[in-house]
Amino acid sequence: MNTYLDHAATTPVRPEVAETFARVAAQVGNPSSLHADGRRARRTLEEAREQLAAALGAEPAEVIFTSGGTEADNLALTGTWFKVSADEPRRRDVVISAVEHPAVLDTAHALGDRHGAGAHLVPVDARGRLQVESLEKHLEQRGQQVAVLSVMWANNETGAIQPLSDVVGLARRHGIVVHTDAVQAVGRIPVDFAAAGVDALSLSGHKLGAPVGIGALLAGRETPLTPVLHGGGQERAVRSGTIPVAAAAALAHAVDLAVADQQAEHVRLRELAGLLIEKVPQAVPGAVLQGPTDDGDRLPGHVLFTIAGTDAEAVLFGLDMAGISAASGAACQAGVNQPSYVLQAMGADEAVARSGLRLTLGHTSTRDDVETLLRVLPEVVQRARAAYSPPRAAQVEVS
Ligand code: PLP
Repeated sequence: MNTYLDHAATTPVRPEVAETFARVAAQVGNPSSLHADGRRARRTLEEAREQLAAALGAEPAEVIFTSGGTEADNLALTGTWFKVSADEPRRRDVVISAVEHPAVLDTAHALGDRHGAGAHLVPVDARGRLQVESLEKHLEQRGQQVAVLSVMWANNETGAIQPLSDVVGLARRHGIVVHTDAVQAVGRIPVDFAAAGVDALSLSGHKLGAPVGIGALLAGRETPLTPVLHGGGQERAVRSGTIPVAAAAALAHAVDLAVADQQAEHVRLRELAGLLIEKVPQAVPGAVLQGPTDDGDRLPGHVLFTIAGTDAEAVLFGLDMAGISAASGAACQAGVNQPSYVLQAMGADEAVARSGLRLTLGHTSTRDDVETLLRVLPEVVQRARAAYSPPRAAQVEVS
């Protein structure tokens, strides 16, 4: 099997969760049907809702099942924006951090382009953490115009944990609905919906040991939400569509297991990530740790390097040829490697923003995985450097 160092992209389904999925999927019944099979499906769905809520400090009624993190983010931003801006017409702005996942970033831009929302991006510092003072200043000026504020719990490229309690405090001061994308955080660090004080929180199954295709938005009963999907009125009538009961049961089981294991995994993954942080720059001069340097500000199994004089694509190709799955910090659009907008928001130039190597660990990771990477990486980087030509802007600067 490949050495898998890409758990932030997706993590293997846990075997116990696969069993739950298979067991429930073998049973017939639409949870909206009134006959015995339907009632059994409904019971299973509601038990999943209770299990998920209990693991994350939420009430069962606050769980809205979705198809994943992207849909939860879209529902959170679009649903709250439409409701708030209809109830309070002066509130038409969407405020987000500059390093949100595209599921949030592009939704904010779409609300701007199609519906006239004002989208404002709050900058981050050189370590990828939100500049709280900048948010504070912005809200002092325009807080009464903001419909929804969305700041992720932890970033998918850098692993930076954002100062969410400061964000919530500021949102409260100005009466703003606040959402957090906790897709990378759930199961990796403690996440408690009630204690966090947010109005809505997104999570995704395939990041924590459930199958792809299921996630949830946790939303308080008072959270203003206009439906985005219309139909049969399922999920508090804000997210119509028959819920895949087997996937919901698998999600709840996976969240339960990930939360139960979280503390022990935190220690184990922190140690393995520490090895990477110590040894990669020794093995590969020019490799620089990006994102927070303070362990407490970074997800435990998450490490982002930039490697001077390389293009991420070449490094990833070399690693792949050697049987190692990793990621760049950058988004890959239609097969073309783009500079990372997250690194650019942190102040990196284009060449640096094209040289990210993201190594993310998870429940199947071992010390062997880390050692394999350390053994293979120097030669892969050497070859990538031999083939490297800097981006055009950087070439102009050099000549
Ligand atoms: N938000 C963050 C922070 C993510 O990392 C991801 C997945 O990469 C998503 C949202 C999208 O989640 P999904 O793949 O479940 O749609």
